[in-house]
Amino acid sequence: MSNNVMVEVRNLKKYFPVRRFLLSKDYVKAVDGVSFQIKKGECLGLVGESGSGKTTLGRVILRLIPPTSGEILYKGKPVTKMKGEELKEFRKSAQMVFQDPYSSLDPRMTVFQSIIEGPRIHGIDVGNPEEFVTRLLETVGLKPEHLYRYPHEFSGGQKQRIAIARALAMNPEFMVLDEPTSALDVSVQASILNMLKELQAKFGLTYLFISHDLAVVKYMSHRIATMYVGRIVEVADSEELFLNPLHPYTQMLLASIPIPDPKIAKNKPKIKITGEPPSPIRLPQGCKFYPRCPFAMPICKIKEPPLIKVGNNHEVACWLYE
Ligand code: SF4
Repeated sequence: MSNNVMVEVRNLKKYFPVRRFLLSKDYVKAVDGVSFQIKKGECLGLVGESGSGKTTLGRVILRLIPPTSGEILYKGKPVTKMKGEELKEFRKSAQMVFQDPYSSLDPRMTVFQSIIEGPRIHGIDVGNPEEFVTRLLETVGLKPEHLYRYPHEFSGGQKQRIAIARALAMNPEFMVLDEPTSALDVSVQASILNMLKELQAKFGLTYLFISHDLAVVKYMSHRIATMYVGRIVEVADSEELFLNPLHPYTQMLLASIPIPDPKIAKNKPKIKITGEPPSPIRLPQGCKFYPRCPFAMPICKIKEPPLIKVGNNHEVACWLYE
């Protein structure tokens, strides 16, 4: 593995057991054989409808939940085998920002307590704690007078800034941003996204940016992976994915968003999103997109297409490109 790679995921699976009858079990295959790399300093966008497994994937990578099988390498080291000091270092270095800033902050803790909690638990020497937290608040666009206030005194956007400051307090190198703006008013979304971009450049951060909104993912990401019922069905550089979307599912997602760039809008696919994703317990055989796909062929019903390279930094899982 090149030492330029921060995160590598190999054939990762996460199945959740669900009881069907008294003695038999089914599985929700939330993540089913996913492989990709994220380079140092890169933002990889992960896009797909809700229920596609994006959040589960982010949580498994950060070892918040264990995988069913497969490998996660962080700076070349297997995350699932980490113990002791190595695991402690990983817990500091890899942080997550959740979708809902309302529930991610403890209402009984002041901003100061919330932000300093992580460094205290991990024994990080931050110098003067008040000065340290004040500097972080300024970094995320808040003011020193916010230090001893409680979460209910802040707007949604400000709460998300506090959650981001709390993640930054651990001096991370990698962050999973799980729909960080989708619970916020449209008017504040852009300012949070801009701030996340500035922070990435300033601290050289690596991001996995999860969203159902392809326009937001495009704005944030260098590369984009499209996820459908637990699988990656297309990966390409951000610009390439918009100019030349190959998988019919990516085309459907793209067709549903307004595109301001006339060059891209000209090539915008005309496919409409139809139908619903299949039940994750009873997935169809073959290509999982087959029941919704306007281009489905007989082979699609029988055999699942592998993710293959179709161009420079462009991979797709679809029999149309075999
Ligand atoms: Fe459609 Fe077949 Fe491609 Fe699946 S493999 S996306 S069903 S054309």
